[in-house]
Amino acid sequence: MLLPDNVYGPTRGNATELLVRAGVEVSFYDPLTGAGIEQAIRPNTRLVWCESPGSITLEVQDVPAIAQVCRARGVLVAMDNTWASPLGFAALAHGVDLSVQALTKHVGGHSDLLMGSVATNDAAMYERLRRTANLQGANVSPDDCAMAIRGLATMSLRLEAQSHSALQIARWLRAHPRVSWLAFPPLAGDAGHSLWHRDFSGGGCVLSFSLASADWDSACDFADSLRVFQLGASFGGVNSLVAIYRGTGPRDHPRFAQLGPVLRLSVGLERTEDLIADLAGAFDATREADIERGQHAAQQT
Ligand SMILES: *Cc1c(COP(=O)(O)O)cnc(C)c1O
Repeated sequence: MLLPDNVYGPTRGNATELLVRAGVEVSFYDPLTGAGIEQAIRPNTRLVWCESPGSITLEVQDVPAIAQVCRARGVLVAMDNTWASPLGFAALAHGVDLSVQALTKHVGGHSDLLMGSVATNDAAMYERLRRTANLQGANVSPDDCAMAIRGLATMSLRLEAQSHSALQIARWLRAHPRVSWLAFPPLAGDAGHSLWHRDFSGGGCVLSFSLASADWDSACDFADSLRVFQLGASFGGVNSLVAIYRGTGPRDHPRFAQLGPVLRLSVGLERTEDLIADLAGAFDATREADIERGQHAAQQT
């Protein structure tokens, strides 16, 4: 199994800690490789995993190019399509065999549901997955199903409003002098924007950025100073959330090294002006501490 090196942490853990015990050989590839995936495929490769945009650093993959190579080599492609959801990226139509979705996020939409789905156009594959899920006890309760169905009724409206708001916030943040790096593929100028524009029909509501001060305490102070954005790791709900990633742990993907701590925002349904005012307030509240830390760092070097 091949996975992109920016894959969602628990997916990495499932592969390197559980699948290896079951005898699966796991290796990682550069998510930006596109058709270059050919070089990573070995005679025993059965599955290529994709996640686009990738977790936290949000690189957009050339999924059609990867799928084309894999199809020719008889290798299955599975994709974690949680960021955009099927409304933003039609994974199966772009050559993916198995489209995986955390329904916890955009489908649930209210941060009160834990559920996932796998979608495929292959009837035999469906029967096999269904049987496997049954044998593993991976079933869901009727109450949870009712919440997912209720979420679906408003999903397209929520996603459209949240991604529209996220785009305005991304634009505002990118222009801020204390932001050194920002990733949001729907934003023109983003490293993944042209692929996003070619393949996606909508955006997600999650964006990531780094502060110019680039240290952990500054990132924590900033997040603590926010009043509307609450601390939280799950995303896609109606309430805006902020999460901080240190990026230096043994299970973190290598792309963090150049970025320093990353702040990730999930933009909810509050008024965009209120969210921007909240961010502006956090920049104001942390300015002096940041200047002091900068002077301290300069004295030490
Ligand atoms: C949150 C998330 C998941 C899994 O979500 P659950 O909370 O376990 O339902 C999977 N992939 C990505 C990219 C995610 O962000």
